Amino acid sequence: MSNKKTKSKQKAYKVLLVGDTSVGKTSIILQYTKHIHPNIYLSTIGLDFASKEQKLENGEEITLRIYDTAGQEKFNSIVKNLFKSCQGLILVYDITSIQSFHNINNWLNYVKDNSNKEVKLLLVGNKSDLEDKREVEIIDANNLAKKFDIELIEISAKDNIGVDDVFIKIAKMLYYDINDTEVNDSVNLTQDEIIRNNPSSSCCNIF
Ligand code: GDP
Ligand code: MG
Repeated sequence: MSNKKTKSKQKAYKVLLVGDTSVGKTSIILQYTKHIHPNIYLSTIGLDFASKEQKLENGEEITLRIYDTAGQEKFNSIVKNLFKSCQGLILVYDITSIQSFHNINNWLNYVKDNSNKEVKLLLVGNKSDLEDKREVEIIDANNLAKKFDIELIEISAKDNIGVDDVFIKIAKMLYYDINDTEVNDSVNLTQDEIIRNNPSSSCCNIF
């Protein structure tokens, strides 16, 4: 009998951060993964991702593969595919920018039409350290969250307040609610797809 242990493959989930430019998406990801180097840099296709293992309360670990998109890019087909294939979506606004909050409605509409039906959503108000510049009242954000039946968290990527909570929360939602997930360690983008979808490198700038 072999005593070689076969390590079961860890569950991996794709999580995408969306929201207007400057709301703090990159800062949130960097704060969460600060001890880790993003393991792939796909700047020419306008997508970056970082992977991090997240421990759950039952002791199990899952992998979160976190993607960043810019707010003003023209969505190319890779980004559209990512919208369809990601299981978690974090919608980010800046509490000091009412415009970024209003645009959450546009993001939600886009999500409704373009993401998979199982997708787990979380609404995040960033820059809570800038209370004196607040433009988005928490009651309004709560109302929006209720309307769409999603959870709201206010955080500060700068002061590292609530950032881990965002990812712990989405990790739990994914682990407990999504049965059918990719369990291997690959991204669903082949080199062919990257070339096919991106004849030029002008699509978008992210990070
Ligand atoms: P992105 O365009 O959504 O990726 O936003 P960035 O992460 O590049 O952040 C835009 C600007 O907001 C940068 O100057 C950040 O330093 C700043 N920023 C991000 N998060 C916070 C925060 O929680 N508090 C404050 N005060 N500034 C932040
Ligand atoms: Mg960015």
